Amino acid sequence: MNDCLFCKIVSGEIPSYKIYEDEDFLAFLDINPVNLGHTLVIPKKHSTNILEMEDELSKKMIIVVKKISQKIKTSLKSDGINILINNEAGAGQIIFHTHIHIIPRFKDDGLQHWPSKKFTSEDFLKTAEKIKK
Ligand code: 5GP
Ligand code: ZN
Repeated sequence: MNDCLFCKIVSGEIPSYKIYEDEDFLAFLDINPVNLGHTLVIPKKHSTNILEMEDELSKKMIIVVKKISQKIKTSLKSDGINILINNEAGAGQIIFHTHIHIIPRFKDDGLQHWPSKKFTSEDFLKTAEKIKK
């Protein structure tokens, strides 16, 4: 995976503002942050996204994400934290190396949640059945 940007950040070929590192994971500031402190947590071992990543490593990753989120919340005095993952191009993933966004949120940061849509109870029932099958 020589041409993977985040693998290059892991190897140090591309610089980053690192905030955490251990044997398996690296966390660094997003270069185009939603808010200052917007952080990306990545596994050092390449995988395309969390759907493809080993379960054991995924479990470890969420613990790391929680720790860093708590640290960001306290140190930057944020009012809340969004933790999110974009999986595959259709969901807005642009870097195809697994990463979790940690975004510190502030009451007055002007960001809004994504808009919702209206559906019928039949739509909900059919969709739930499809997923459960
Ligand atoms: P996603 O794939 O979930 O849409 O987001 C990828 C994220 O990586 C974006 O928020 C983008 O700003 C960030 N990003 C892209 N290239 C670089 C880079 O070279 N350095 C850093 N620190 N972040 C990057
Ligand atoms: Zn990679």
